[in-house]
Amino acid sequence: MSTVKAYAAPSATAPLAPHTITRRPLGPRDVQIDILYCGVCHSDLHTVRDEWDGTTYPCVPGHEIVGKIAALGSAVNNFQVGDAVGVGCMVNSCRTCPSCREGEEQFCEQGATFTYNSPEKETGGNTYGGYSQGVVVDADFVLRIPSNLDLAAAAPLLCAGITTYSPLRHWQVGPGQKVGIVGLGGLGHMGVKLARAFGAHVVLFTTSPGKTADAQRLGAHEVVISKDKAAMQQHLNSFDFILDTVSAPHDLNAYLMLLKRDATMTLVGLPEPTPLAAGSLIFGRRRLAGSLIGGIRETQEMLDFCGQHSITSDIELIPIQKINEAYERMLKSDVKYRFVIDIQSLAQT
Ligand code: NAP
Ligand code: ZN
Ligand code: ZN
Repeated sequence: MSTVKAYAAPSATAPLAPHTITRRPLGPRDVQIDILYCGVCHSDLHTVRDEWDGTTYPCVPGHEIVGKIAALGSAVNNFQVGDAVGVGCMVNSCRTCPSCREGEEQFCEQGATFTYNSPEKETGGNTYGGYSQGVVVDADFVLRIPSNLDLAAAAPLLCAGITTYSPLRHWQVGPGQKVGIVGLGGLGHMGVKLARAFGAHVVLFTTSPGKTADAQRLGAHEVVISKDKAAMQQHLNSFDFILDTVSAPHDLNAYLMLLKRDATMTLVGLPEPTPLAAGSLIFGRRRLAGSLIGGIRETQEMLDFCGQHSITSDIELIPIQKINEAYERMLKSDVKYRFVIDIQSLAQT
């Protein structure tokens, strides 16, 4: 494949700009993918701006990749050229540690290779993500996109979809349960759709009163404006599970108080540290947990579930030239409900 056009952040403070990257030669276990669409995750923004420390520049983000197979390594026999495939947040892992053996490669004890800003095992270089025309990925980390799904709208399933699907499954959300989703952004709107599809009673918490009608259309039975203290009080001690997808610091205690005895709130949003009052957990023996994307096997299970239930993301398709504007809108919680880059637009750079 060698050289492809991309968009990269040259530093933590500079806007993303056109860039060229080199992809590794196709190895026997590799799949070469022509990228069609790439979703824009808030993690891209956190990484580009070095909010989690450790970003290597130039940084090419993007881990909600959908495309068509352009070429196959000699040992790959479970895919065909032309197949519609996806790549999510990981492109490799050690394969031998207990987490890898259990299909939870995201928790690889040697450290999973993430799709961007990670050391690339094969080359010793840095991984570059999906804001680019093509990628070479080990076949074991390539997912199949169900044929009935729109490819652009399916792209966000590769991160926002699995990141919400995995904890909802792990904590066994289902019929008869009252489930809260906090934040209606990329992750949150997938959380609403999936929790609804799993049969739960879904309550969406938002700081944006203007999103109420959308939340209901997406599947929420109830919408609570989280700044409204009286509305929050009405839900005290009533939730079986809460999934917090918020990207900015906010009061966790206000949500913990809404859990029933022994119930769990799981964080998937990764903001700066937020204060935690021990009493919020102690009274009610409540639990606070976290969850990181999902393993490859579970990601395929999620895609197949979405195929069966015709679930995709609600997207705004943008050319790559609008990416810096999209980041600013994301910071203002103005995403309806995931930006997806039309990678064809890279040809014009
Ligand atoms: P997003 O589309 O920007 O959505 C975040 C939502 O958080 C906003 O739409 C907004 O919802 C709410 N929000 C924003 N600022 C807020 C504030 N100051 N107070 C309260 N609520 C606020 O982001 P995303 O792509 O869904 O990602 C969300 C977070 O998850 C990010 O931190 C990201 O890095 C992280 N993430 C984690 C994983 C994982 O594996 N754990 C995977 C992917 C992403 P309302 O307008 O409805 O309030
Ligand atoms: Zn992501
Ligand atoms: Zn491992």
